[in-house]
Amino acid sequence: MNRIAVANQKGGVGKTTTAINIATALSAVGWRVLLVDLDPQGNASTGLGVDQKQREITSYDVMMGNATVDQAVVSTKLPRLDIVPATQDLSGAEVELVDVDQRMHRLDGALNAIPAGRYDVVLTDCPPSLGLLTVNALVAAHSILVPLQCEFFALEGLSQLLKTVERVRARFNNGLTVLGVALTMFDRRNRLSDQVAKDVRAVLGQVVFDTVIPRNVRLSEAPSHGLPALIYDHRCAGSEAYIGLAREIIGRLDGKARAA
Ligand code: ADP
Ligand code: MG
Repeated sequence: MNRIAVANQKGGVGKTTTAINIATALSAVGWRVLLVDLDPQGNASTGLGVDQKQREITSYDVMMGNATVDQAVVSTKLPRLDIVPATQDLSGAEVELVDVDQRMHRLDGALNAIPAGRYDVVLTDCPPSLGLLTVNALVAAHSILVPLQCEFFALEGLSQLLKTVERVRARFNNGLTVLGVALTMFDRRNRLSDQVAKDVRAVLGQVVFDTVIPRNVRLSEAPSHGLPALIYDHRCAGSEAYIGLAREIIGRLDGKARAA
C-alpha cells in the first residue's frame, strides 16, 4: 500500500485539485484508492460529493483515536475510490493533540491498522500549513507530492517545506522521499508562467514532473458539481494533464517498487 502526502503549506496552489484528480485517475486504471481529507476546510470531501450528512465519522475522529479508518471511510460515486472525509472539527486536533503521546504518529498508526490488501494507494490531502496535521501526513507517507503554482513566488516557501521533509525524515520516517513536484495553474498566455516553470526546473531538476497542469476553468468548476474534473469533463485540457501526471506518478512508483 503506497502512501502519498499531497502537501504544500501555501493555500490555493492546487493540492486538493491534484489529490482528487490523481486519486480518480489511479482508481480508473484499477487501483483501489483511499483519499484522506486532512484539511479542516474539507474541500476534498466536498469535491468528491460527500455531503455533511455523510461526515459523521471523520478524519478528526481518526486523528483523535476515536475511530478507525475503516469506520470513517465513505465510498464515493466512483468505483475503487473511498475517502475519509473532514469537517471543521479537524482544526481542533492541532490543539487537542499537543500533549498527547505519539502525536506525530496518529495518522501513521491509523493507516497501519487498515487490513492488508484493502488499498493500493492512500493519498492524503494536507492543509495549507506545516503544523501537526501536515507532519502527521509526512510521518505516515512513503513520499510527498508537491503541487507548485506557476507564479512569481513559486519557490519561496519550498525550501521551508523541504526542510520540514528533512526533519521528518531524520526523526520519524527515514524512508520518506519526494515523489515529485507538479507545476500547476500554468498559463501559456502569460510569459511569467513560462519563466517560472523554467526557473523551477533549473533549480529543482528531475524532481519536477514533465507534465504541467494548465490553468483551466473546468478544473475549478468541477468541485461545485461534487465531481472530479476527470469525470465532469474528461476531455478538457486540465483533465488530460492530470491523466499525464498520473501516468508519470505510476512510472515513478513502479521505479521505486523495482528499486526496493
Ligand atoms: P489548495 O488545495 O492547494 O488550497 P485547490 O486545489 O483547492 O488548492 O485550488 C485552489 C482554487 O483554484 C480552487 O478553487 C480550485 O478549483 C482552483 N484550481 C486549482 N487548480 C486549477 C487549475 N489548474 N486551473 C484553474 N483553477 C484551478
Ligand atoms: Mg486544499
